[in-house]
Amino acid sequence: MKDEHRKRALVTGGAGFLGSHLCEYLLRSGLEVLCVDNFYTGTRENILPLLTHPNFELLRHDICLPLHVEVDEIYNLACPASPLHYQSDPIQTLKTSVLGAMNLLGLAKRLKCKIFQASTSEVYGDPHVHPQKEEYWGNVNPIGYRSCYDEGKRCAETLFFDYHRMHRIPIKLGRIFNTYGPRMHPNDGRVVSNLIIQALSGKPLTIYGDGNQTRSFCYVDDLIDVIVRFMNSKNEITGPINIGNPVEFRVIDLAKEILKITGSSSPILFAPLPSDDPKQRKPDISKAKTLLGWEPKTSLQEGLQATIDYFTSHERIHTSSIYH
Ligand code: NAD
Ligand code: UDP
Repeated sequence: MKDEHRKRALVTGGAGFLGSHLCEYLLRSGLEVLCVDNFYTGTRENILPLLTHPNFELLRHDICLPLHVEVDEIYNLACPASPLHYQSDPIQTLKTSVLGAMNLLGLAKRLKCKIFQASTSEVYGDPHVHPQKEEYWGNVNPIGYRSCYDEGKRCAETLFFDYHRMHRIPIKLGRIFNTYGPRMHPNDGRVVSNLIIQALSGKPLTIYGDGNQTRSFCYVDDLIDVIVRFMNSKNEITGPINIGNPVEFRVIDLAKEILKITGSSSPILFAPLPSDDPKQRKPDISKAKTLLGWEPKTSLQEGLQATIDYFTSHERIHTSSIYH
């Protein structure tokens, strides 16, 4: 029987990188968690320690299909996030963003509950405004290889605001900028995981283009903190709110930092830049600061060290399992 006093959160994409950290955080805060995932990019390993927790429940389900559950709040994180994964089946990516949003908004409407949407800095595309403020409408190619993700997330934002305006659903729209940390998928091709794994295994560090393109990297613990603050904020605070770390780095400097921390002597290998790769990205987080009282605390050096430690021990787990 459900504990009447315990809040119950639905986390879609809960077996993924960000979702698994969010589930863990919510359980630690005393909530019940219903994790919904179709394991497209997520893994059971990410949530292994949670499976035996009395307040944790796992449901294998694709959010492109309607979902009938009873919860008090919804965090919608389900969607492949790395260019490699979201481009491998672009139609499924669009369906997940659009049909998934409609199904979960329908659920929020029936339950009259708050719903958080994991939107993305990709809604700004290859931006002409720098740093990016929430008022900027973006520069997105509607027919390119990244469009399934960018336009899917933009359409989901439209759906969130139309459901909010028509049905008064309390929405929380967070535009997440590049986030990294333990449990990133080792093969998802994202720059932080790629470069760390290459450095640890003595392989060349692949830099796409000349490495002068910039990104602003947020450590996962900081991001989970602001997502939960946002959910717990007043209903009038709908977003969109940029959530990410405003400290901007060139990709080449990220590579040098990873070489320094790992002590690796891997060379750097320059490779072609993928199409529509944004040249610069840095969030203006004034809204997150004033409305949510949040700013990131973890430096890139600290965050990279924790991520490198994770990949080092993760590799050991995999190596040892081969021999047992
Ligand atoms: P991830 O790929 O690790 O996690 C996504 C999870 O969603 C996986 O567990 C996957 O199996 C699940 N999923 C995918 N399609 C599904 C479907 N149709 N039904 C049910 N489950 C499904 O990615 P992540 O980095 O944890 O990203 C989580 C969310 O945050 C995504 O919505 C992503 O767009 C957004 N986001 C992430 C970043 C980042 O830097 N990590 C940046 C911007 C936005
Ligand atoms: N990148 C790179 N080497 C890699 C992987 C990515 O130089 O091995 C570059 C990529 O072209 C982009 C930046 O790093 O300019 C961030 O890429 P990622 O896929 O992590 O995120 P996104 O492009 O979605 O911001």
